[in-house]
Order: sequence, then C-alpha cells, then structure tokens
Amino acid sequence: MTAPVLPAAFGFLASARTGGGPAPDAAFATRGDRTVIGARLRRQSLAATLVHPPESIPETAHAQDADTAVLVAGELYNRAELLSVLPAGSAPEGDAQLLLELLHRYGPHAFRLVNGRFAALAQTGDRVLLATDHAGSVPLYVRLAPGEVNTATEAKTLGDPATPRGFPLADARRVPGLTGVYQVPAGTVLDIGLESGTAEAHRTWTPPLARRVLPEREAVDAVRTALERACAARVPAGGTPLVVLSGGIDSSGVAACAHRAAGALDTVSMGTDTADEFPEARTVAEHLGSRHREITVPTEDLLAQLPYAVWASESVDPDIIEYLLPLVALYRALDGPPRRILTGYGADIPLAGMHREDRLPDLDTAVAYDMATFDGLNEMSPVLSAVTGHWTTHPYWDRDVLDLLVSLEAGLKRRHGRDKWVLREAMAGALPAETVLRPKLGVHEGSGTTSSFSALLIAHGVAEPSVPKAKQQVVRELFGRTVAAGRHPSGVSTAEVVRSVADGLARGAA
Ligand code: ATP
Ligand code: MG
Ligand code: MG
Ligand code: MG
Repeated sequence: MTAPVLPAAFGFLASARTGGGPAPDAAFATRGDRTVIGARLRRQSLAATLVHPPESIPETAHAQDADTAVLVAGELYNRAELLSVLPAGSAPEGDAQLLLELLHRYGPHAFRLVNGRFAALAQTGDRVLLATDHAGSVPLYVRLAPGEVNTATEAKTLGDPATPRGFPLADARRVPGLTGVYQVPAGTVLDIGLESGTAEAHRTWTPPLARRVLPEREAVDAVRTALERACAARVPAGGTPLVVLSGGIDSSGVAACAHRAAGALDTVSMGTDTADEFPEARTVAEHLGSRHREITVPTEDLLAQLPYAVWASESVDPDIIEYLLPLVALYRALDGPPRRILTGYGADIPLAGMHREDRLPDLDTAVAYDMATFDGLNEMSPVLSAVTGHWTTHPYWDRDVLDLLVSLEAGLKRRHGRDKWVLREAMAGALPAETVLRPKLGVHEGSGTTSSFSALLIAHGVAEPSVPKAKQQVVRELFGRTVAAGRHPSGVSTAEVVRSVADGLARGAA
C-alpha cells in the first residue's frame, strides 16, 4: 500500500476549550500554508491552525461528528489493516476520519492499533486525548489550564506569555525555558479532563524486552520482508521517492527497498569541504540506477546552521544535534517542490550499530538502554526537513520493523565478526558487496561535523577537556534563544553564542 504524495498536515497548534475563542497564532519552524479549523462540539470547542504543504487537502487532517473531533499531523501506515476492523463499507476520507471511526469502536485504545508517524488530538465528550505514535516521532507538546488545553507539534508555538501559566503534569517531560509546557511521551495517549485539568497517561507501545532466538535464514528473511513492507508503505503513490543516501548499509538498504517498491528512485548525498561519503553513495546510486545528486556544504556554513538544527529539532542534546545538523543543512539545500523523503535513520539503535566490539554481553545492554532513553531527543522529528517544506519518514522505526529488530537476540546483530549482520545479510542480494560489507560510519563522522564543531570551540579558546561541556552549553543557549524565546534562527549567530560560552568557561577557569 503506497502513501499519498504528502500528509494532509505536517503540524498543528490547537486549543480545546470549554468556551469558544479564535485560533491561536502560530510561529512554526515548519514551512507550509496555514489553514484555520474551528469546530463546536456538545461539550467543548476546537480552534486550530494547521500547517501543511500547499497541494494537500488540509480538511482531511480534521474529522468530526456531533460529540468527537480528531486532528492529525502526519500519516498512518497500516491503513488497510485498520480498515479491515471497521464495519464493511466504511470508506473514511483521510487519516483523521479513519481515527475517528476507530475511536468510536475502541475508545482511546484505538491508538494501540496504529502503526504511523503522527501526532493527534481527539476531543470527545468533556475529554481531550493527546496521542503520539509508538516512537513519538512527531513531537507533541501541551500546556494545560482549567477549561483549556493548548497543544502543538512545536513547543515554541506554546511560548506565548499571554496564555495561562499551565498546570504541572506528572507523567510528562518539562520543556526547558517554557514554563508549563510539557512533551507528551512517545507511545502514549494523554487523557485529559478538560474541566479539571487532570491528566492520565496510557501507554500504547513500549519497546520489547524479550529477545527471540531464530535460525539465521528465518531472521534474515523476516528483516527483509519487514523492511520491504515498511518502505512500500512509505513511497508516494504514482511518484518517485527521494532517499537521503550516505552509502552506509542503513540508507542503502532503504534505497534498494524503495526502488523496488516504486520502480524509480531519486537519491541525494551531502558532504562538506572537510569530509564526504560521495564515492560510497555513488556506488549505490549507480547500482540502483537512481537519479543522484551531491550537495557540498562548506563547513563554515554548516556550523552557522546550528541555530536552525536546534530550532527545528527542539532538542537540547548536543550529540543528537551533531547527528541532525548535516541533515538539516541537506534539507535546507534541497530546493524545488516539497518531496517525500525516506531515510535510513535510526537503524543503529535497535541493532547497536554504534557498538564497536565483538563481545555480546554489552550489546544488548546498549540496545535496552537506547530504547529506554530515546524519548524526547526528537531525532525523528519531521520538522528537520519541514523547515523547507519536505516530509521525511524513517522505515527502520516503522513499528513492525522496530519491534522485530529490537527483539532479535544479540548474536544475530553481531555475527561472523560483523556489526548489523542480520540487516547486511538481508540486503546482500540487492546491493553491491562493498556496500554490504562497509563498516558503519556515523553521519556526524562522515560529514566531519563532530570534529569541526570541536575545532570551532578550540579556536575560541576552549580547552580540549571542556569541549563536551561547551557543546552542551552552546546547544542549551541556542535552544533558549530559538525555542524558549522564539527568535528566528536567521537572527541568531553561532559565532556569537560560541564566543560567549568560551568566555564564560574562561572566566570560570580563571
Ligand atoms: P551506517 O549507520 O552503517 O553508517 P548509514 O550511513 O545509512 O549507515 P547513519 O550513518 O546512521 O546511517 O546515518 C543516518 C541516516 O542519515 C542515513 O541512513 C541516511 O539516510 C542519512 N545520511 C547520513 N549521512 C548522509 C549523507 N552524507 N548524505 C545524505 N544522507 C545521509
Ligand atoms: Mg545508520
Ligand atoms: Mg553512516
Ligand atoms: Mg548509523
């Protein structure tokens, strides 16, 4: 089952109220047209601003009947499965309508059925449900006040000091610098009583802890089948998918599967004047016959875009920002109409691709730890590419692929002296041998991002041992300016922030 060219909506800012009122004004990082949605239900009202690609039908991101309304940003991937549990003849128009019908059948547990990349708001009776997909891949934020729930796919849109201060929320993470704003956890339905402002969190997904022992062949076939299905569900109907390709096994596997599903493929690779993976990516592009493009970003420009990476991801984790910066720079350099982009992002988490040693005991510890701590990092956020109007989707974090990869026993991940063995073996027939055998190289390494960021700090007088701390402070400061204070990143200077952090550290050391 293929996907529409783009989702009906990329994001929203919405207000559920017992009374009425105008749609709140929004300052999204997401680029797109705005559509205002208003709805009156029996017990509450909805006022929302959707941000969406110019050619989508934003009305299909909203559905309602007398007592229930649903708003969705993003998309569902198991539509056929979901349709099969609705009464025969049901033909919902769009994902919001589909969710509305599922809610009538299953109540809030409807979200346990969904494999998707979405954030949703559902209002029913006097309750407000806020739902994330299993991975929380479309971040969702909330600010609660009596009789009013404000929610948005970007925290910065909830920073308006004129709105009520907000109740504390025990089950959710606070957003630094934005008092009263919380992030809805991954794989969760937050069930809020609109009058009381009390909330209860129901988990809809949790990473599997048990591990499966499978014969080699069975494991390899299962991985290939799951990845092919996930890619097929993500390629655009009647269109050509674009894969951001490094020539590493993860993105090359996605490229092979997307090519097979769509019959055509575009690929793009980024590099800097310091480092690139162009030859390795070209090998794959030539093998698959994709229309391929290389984009070189000068290192100085790359680092100057740090404020954009923080503004888009709303992440305060400096390691994550180093992974995301080259990708944000790549997406920002992609001109032309909005594209549906597939990435190989995230494969290393369930497969412990970063785990560079041959012994097994620590491998599964790394998988369990990373799966328990990914929430809130916003690595998968669609806003990274939506800053230039593009939609990304990550097949390795498809719910079925992820469940399978996490649950394979460590010996299938590290085997015959190779990392990510089961994935490499699954893709062996579809890719050149040199690609299948290529050692892992992180995007932050292949683009020289980590080393250039370190070099910039050292050039400003930061002592080598203080570099990690300085990176943390730079990212925090950029977050404070672009997210908490809501300044546009074009007006925030990496150089100035680096200078002030370096000066602060020097004063502290003196
Ligand atoms: P491996 O993890 O084995 O190196 P990979 O390069 O595909 O495989 P990562 O390095 O983890 O994966 O990078 C994450 C994803 O980011 C990639 O799968 C790819 O989609 C994208 N990416 C990474 N580097 C580049 C690049 N230089 N150009 C374009 N996209 C890239
Ligand atoms: Mg990878
Ligand atoms: Mg790589
Ligand atoms: Mg990787």
